[in-house]
Amino acid sequence: MKSSNNRPLSLDQFNNLLQQSGVVDHTYPLTALVWMPYGYKILNLTENYLNGLFEKYGYGRHVFPYLVSSREFDRINKQISSFETGVFKVTNSIILRPSGESAIYPMFRRWIKSERDLPKKVFQIGSMFRKGSTRGFMRPNENDFFVEAHSAFSSRKEAEIELMNINNLVEEYLRWLAIPTLKTIRPSWTNKPVAEKEYAFDALLPIGETSLLNVTYSQMQIFSKAFDISFTRENGIKDYTYQAEFGFSQRSILTSVWLMSNQDNLFLLPSYSPIQVVIIQIDPENSQLSEYSEKILMLLKSKNIRAFVDKEKRQLYKRFSKYEKIGVPIRLEIGENELKYSTIKLVRKDNGNKLNHPFDNIDQTVNQTFEKIISDAYANNEKKLIDNTIICDKKEKVRETIKYGKIAKVQLCNCEDCTKKLQKEIGLGEVIGFKDEDDKIEGPCINCHKSTSNVAFYARRV
Ligand SMILES: [Zn+2]
Repeated sequence: MKSSNNRPLSLDQFNNLLQQSGVVDHTYPLTALVWMPYGYKILNLTENYLNGLFEKYGYGRHVFPYLVSSREFDRINKQISSFETGVFKVTNSIILRPSGESAIYPMFRRWIKSERDLPKKVFQIGSMFRKGSTRGFMRPNENDFFVEAHSAFSSRKEAEIELMNINNLVEEYLRWLAIPTLKTIRPSWTNKPVAEKEYAFDALLPIGETSLLNVTYSQMQIFSKAFDISFTRENGIKDYTYQAEFGFSQRSILTSVWLMSNQDNLFLLPSYSPIQVVIIQIDPENSQLSEYSEKILMLLKSKNIRAFVDKEKRQLYKRFSKYEKIGVPIRLEIGENELKYSTIKLVRKDNGNKLNHPFDNIDQTVNQTFEKIISDAYANNEKKLIDNTIICDKKEKVRETIKYGKIAKVQLCNCEDCTKKLQKEIGLGEVIGFKDEDDKIEGPCINCHKSTSNVAFYARRV
């Protein structure tokens, strides 16, 4: 249904909605979320989807321990990753994993001996622990739905191709969540020495800040050298593996929900909504109506549609609003008229459109409506992203754009000097990344005015 007002949903309001709808409980005494049964189902559906997606891209799911040896962690700490916010120590020789490398790469070192052992492609879903955190689900100390994938190859070329594959995987997942993103290459001086190249995927949140949802890394031999992951080629020559990796958290799922929700109600996409269709039997005590709603339920269930019949004996508007509140995307209404003519009233939550449909083929129409809801959501979110990305040729305009919660697109030399000077003068926000090689145009750098074909995006990032 339409929102009672059009003010953007703030993070606090969104957190309250999540809490009231039984998705998560924020009141845990530490900065971590408790996933409630309804929220767990959302995670579970996402996890099932991701299992299939990773399989399609050739990744095998593993379960690596949360406890990692600090000796292994020290191979990357300081020299490669700074982990400046700190890690949780269990004992002097054990820490809770702040990322997967120190759990996965000691095993790559054991598993990979010769060219025949490659490629190796693994992924895992589980918790990741980092100190220093705030803002609810955006950055908890324990990220309990952290998805990461690591791959190792015998040549640079293969790892380069894999980086493109994992970018496709990420984009496929984000489309399932109906989240359009700005895909950029992160400034190269910020990722050394973690990766040779990094792609960032930022979404624009309703609060006018961007959220970094995914990062893909071309690590090449940086980590394989640190962890001594080497293999012997058929010609007897030893080499280190070439690697690519990426990771993302529950933040992407909740961002998808946030983008679609309003001041009053959550909105869940059919992709991950635990209840996709609620069948409201208008008169709960009419036995003929009960038979009819059961018949519809059976048909939908036989097509793997997650449907539910509501027969609660209370005021109708309260029954409607219960499912509105928790974000159920489709409502079917069954009353005496529908029974008489063997029809069903279908109501879309996203736009309130109503349709009277015959019983026959209702399952097909429901499935088509799911697809339409997801593609409309993507198109709406994409329009917002495009409308709020403003080409700026003056620093003043960049500042103004950022202040109003939009993204500035600027010509900027891809160098540390021009980027830092620009950020210093603007005083808020940051260069979130540079446009990929495609469709580059020449223009004067917003900072030094020399001609450049590099285009950067500037925004406030959560
Ligand atoms: Zn410049």
